[in-house]
Amino acid sequence: MDLALELQKITSDIKFNESMSRHTSFRLGGPVDIFIEVGDEEKLRKIVELVYRADRPYFILGGGTNFLVRDKGIRGVVIKLVGEFKKIAVSDRGLIVGAGVSLSRVVNWASAKGLSGLEFAVGIPGTVGGAVVGNAGVAEKSIGDCITTVRVMDKQGTGIKKLIPKNGDFSYRNSHLKKYIVLDVEILLTKNKIYSIVNRVEEYKQKRKNTQPIKVKSAGCIFKNPPDNFAGKLIDEAGLKGLRVGGAYVSHKHANFILNDGTATATDVLNLISMIKKKVLDKFGRRLEEEIVIVGEE
Ligand SMILES: Cc1cc2nc3c(=O)[nH]c(=O)nc-3n(C[C@H](O)[C@H](O)[C@H](O)COP(=O)(O)OP(=O)(O)OC[C@H]3O[C@@H](n4cnc5c(N)ncnc54)[C@H](O)[C@@H]3O)c2cc1C
Repeated sequence: MDLALELQKITSDIKFNESMSRHTSFRLGGPVDIFIEVGDEEKLRKIVELVYRADRPYFILGGGTNFLVRDKGIRGVVIKLVGEFKKIAVSDRGLIVGAGVSLSRVVNWASAKGLSGLEFAVGIPGTVGGAVVGNAGVAEKSIGDCITTVRVMDKQGTGIKKLIPKNGDFSYRNSHLKKYIVLDVEILLTKNKIYSIVNRVEEYKQKRKNTQPIKVKSAGCIFKNPPDNFAGKLIDEAGLKGLRVGGAYVSHKHANFILNDGTATATDVLNLISMIKKKVLDKFGRRLEEEIVIVGEE
């Protein structure tokens, strides 16, 4: 089967050999063979079914803010959710939000409607889909804590179902949703005074500004925090702030961030990751595990 040809029969929103540096916050990485933007469920189902039948790998892309694509790129398909997947609606218990909506837009929406519960998420870049799959959050709260239902499509493109999360489905930067495509979620929010919500949002914003490098090319925290410790603290105490490979270096502000000075390759970042892991292991006996999703050909 000529996959490209078959896909073009379903959608015209398709690009070939598209550089993933344009779609990731790290602003680096090689090209993907086929890049599709899809705006409704039926089209998504047909595309997924076709790609699955063709036995080609595919990835759903949110904001690309937790995504590192290797320099040789992706031999497969990247699917980005747009159109219908960018809708927000008020529900009895809070908001129903499409997977393609940016998390910051939801925080603003909720604040403006006097709905409280998501203030902590201000400044976490990316989409609601990416956030729930990776259970994004801050020290005291994660998005999984406020999700009541999730509508998902299976990865073969054959069915859609509604999941009600149970205890243990969401864990630290992880969830049961990795095996699905998230379509939309209901976020549980409670009524509160707008000024008090806005104040809390501002507090979280300020805290982030003081502790994280923002408006730079990065993918956020590279490593998960090991139990009872912080990856950034271990990297800092190993003396690695400012350590550089090519155009990639460890942030001076937050040691768990690797920044791209504009010239970094994915190989620079991966080599820097290996150096950090080795030095932290040698010095503290702690094995760091990547939080970011790494894809593409070696
Ligand atoms: C400056 C900066 C600060 C950050 N701060 C934080 C923070 O405080 N806390 C935190 O937790 N993270 C943080 N991050 C990391 C990142 O923003 C989050 O992990 C975010 O939730 C990723 O969302 P995304 O839409 O960009 O996902 P992507 O990077 O696009 O994708 C991540 C993974 O989710 C999958 N995915 C995306 N959408 C779907 C979907 N609809 N269905 C199925 N799978 C999907 C992808 O296939 C991929 O495996 C930060 C990143 C940056 C750059």
